[in-house]
Amino acid sequence: MQLRVLGCSGGIGDGRHTTSLLVDTDILIDAGSGLTQLGRAALARIDHLFLTHAHLDHILALPLMLDSVAGERDGPLTVYALPEVIQVLKDCVFNWQVWPDFTRIPAPESPFMRYVPLAQGSTVELQGRRITAIPAHHTVPAVGYHLQGAKGSLIFSGDTDSHAALWETANATDDLRHLIVETSFPNRMQAIAEASRHYYPHSLARDLADYRGHAPVWITHLKPGGEAEIMQEIDQCAPAGLTIKALRQGQVMDDL
Ligand SMILES: [Zn+2]
Ligand SMILES: [Zn+2]
Repeated sequence: MQLRVLGCSGGIGDGRHTTSLLVDTDILIDAGSGLTQLGRAALARIDHLFLTHAHLDHILALPLMLDSVAGERDGPLTVYALPEVIQVLKDCVFNWQVWPDFTRIPAPESPFMRYVPLAQGSTVELQGRRITAIPAHHTVPAVGYHLQGAKGSLIFSGDTDSHAALWETANATDDLRHLIVETSFPNRMQAIAEASRHYYPHSLARDLADYRGHAPVWITHLKPGGEAEIMQEIDQCAPAGLTIKALRQGQVMDDL
């Protein structure tokens, strides 16, 4: 299994793109603006979309992707998400006002998109690749994901602030190859980070003290323009001995 980072910024500008991770060629984790970098043939190959939550930076390219390539696909795109997230998509996006309801076109019995509700802790297995929703703690219902391929596992926190379950899951994953964790704001923006339920370097460092794994920690969802400041602060306060780097747009992890 391979994971390719299409977008991993907290925003846009100067080539930055928001969260979207492509697994092999057919599975997508979040549909942020990173997805818009794919060609139409690659977009048409995506059969499964797993959403962490309904915030715009994680879903914005989904409506456009469907409109661009759904007509060339043989079957529906399956969108897996918490029931609360699916309800937001129905009420606020695919409501015939913002965008058409692609679960009913071209026909309700053969739609371009279908929803599959996902419970926290449930696992979807797709041709030997296992995707499990893990808890997150954000301002809206949210999950992270544990991806397990033939060679190893990757854990992605999604958008979250401090919570023990993420680190318990990481510590319990023997074949963990990569841990992707968000840190959205620098320490001087602690109040905003706490109000919007995101990590900042001090809160990340406190939780990293509980991390007993050896897999590298990749930092994602950095505030545009604040990348260097956040990474420098993490360097200063994180426990020694860990490999911690900023996740890069275009990065490929092929050891999963
Ligand atoms: Zn969010
Ligand atoms: Zn976000």
